[in-house]
Amino acid sequence: MKPRAAAVARALLLLGLGAGSAALSRDEDTGLARFRDTYRELVETNTTLSAGDCTLAAQRMAARLKAAGYPEADLQIFVADGHPKEGGLIAVLHGTDKSRKAILMLAHVDVVEARREDWTRDPFTLIEDGGYFYGRGTADMKAQAAIWVDNLVRFREEGFRPRRSVKLALTCGEETNGAFNGAGWLAQHERAAIDAEFAITEGTDGLLDEKGNRVALLVLAAEKVSQNYTFEVVNPGGHSSRPVPDNAIYHLVRAVDRVSRYEFPVQLDDANRGYLAAMSKIVGGEQGAAMARVAANPLDAAAVALLDRDKDLHAMLRTTCVATLLSAGHATNALPQRARANINCRIFPGVTREAVLDELKSLADDPAVAVTVPEVRGPAASPPPLTPQVLKPVESVAHELWPGVPVVPALEPGASDAQFLNPAGIPTYGIEGLFVDPDGGGIHGLNERIRVRSVYEGRTFLYRLIKIYAMQ
Ligand SMILES: [Zn+2]
Repeated sequence: MKPRAAAVARALLLLGLGAGSAALSRDEDTGLARFRDTYRELVETNTTLSAGDCTLAAQRMAARLKAAGYPEADLQIFVADGHPKEGGLIAVLHGTDKSRKAILMLAHVDVVEARREDWTRDPFTLIEDGGYFYGRGTADMKAQAAIWVDNLVRFREEGFRPRRSVKLALTCGEETNGAFNGAGWLAQHERAAIDAEFAITEGTDGLLDEKGNRVALLVLAAEKVSQNYTFEVVNPGGHSSRPVPDNAIYHLVRAVDRVSRYEFPVQLDDANRGYLAAMSKIVGGEQGAAMARVAANPLDAAAVALLDRDKDLHAMLRTTCVATLLSAGHATNALPQRARANINCRIFPGVTREAVLDELKSLADDPAVAVTVPEVRGPAASPPPLTPQVLKPVESVAHELWPGVPVVPALEPGASDAQFLNPAGIPTYGIEGLFVDPDGGGIHGLNERIRVRSVYEGRTFLYRLIKIYAMQ
């Protein structure tokens, strides 16, 4: 998963805002070539579900840590039964204060499928071109995964002695619904090994405008839960020459149509309220004014309608449900015996799956339409509060690197592996410090890319940030 806060950035094209300057000090250039090589190795290790090997990627990263001086005892490759290529790595740099809980750097190393013939360049070669890194996973999320590994290497090299332990978990299976998920597996089977006061993983990017100016650094404060529901009608059917009103397809399409015309109520929490309040000042104009009005009053229908024209903002304001699959009938000359639709909902934090199920049943409003839950990916959990302990260091490092660029909380309509760690009692935050282009940088799509400058600055940001957390 990777967020798309693109629409707001599009609104900023002409504003030229947020051009902070990030000075890399000389000592932080040390090891840049080594980092780049770690990043290259990760990108060039194919980790797609179809043809890739996460276990190999984990082994390669473990070898780098071992070369940096980590003992075998602090490096653990884990591979679940029946999933030989979906393994991962846990590593630890021990803290000096045993009474402190660890901090966990979490990253998935699997990537979305990419076919050479569809791409301009080989997706599994790290190519630097025109100020960008190209390749599958360059942005989602092998840059951050490589930075995590690089952090541990640098900490060791410096003889850094953190107060609390700094842990790393590289996992597989985040990108494919229904595939083996390493983060979920760890939460279930290796809970002690990844135990931490909190975890940091991918989340919401920094926003750039079209010219590459920094607009805002987003911090993921909450994310929605993805849940599928099935609408199904079964019927005795019959010969199509003798139609009757009781038709499975008609029952189904009427129910689906009622879903299409329904909007869940606007809901505000700290994440989207904070986002609207902060972005209203940056965006300005009609949209900015509407953001401020909705932040103050979610019942302001006119302002909500204006924001709803933007699909990103629309999704950030409420639970959404949409029909994604449809199948019905068995012959061109027969009345349908079965009709089925999949409704994919993205549930607002704190709303239960059952509440959405009840809403869908009442929308279906037809005893012939059975509304059920086909599968549950993981337990639902309320978002962890964005505490000053987590947020203040983000703000201070961001201020050092990018003075004047606001840090803005955000609610992510997608979902990350935080959905597995939060219910396991490890509050998980999406913090990257990686700025991406307003079009989203081809994440999950073609010709994925990220600015070279973004990766190197993100490396500095996450290095300094984890050091602060490590000394808390
Ligand atoms: Zn991702």
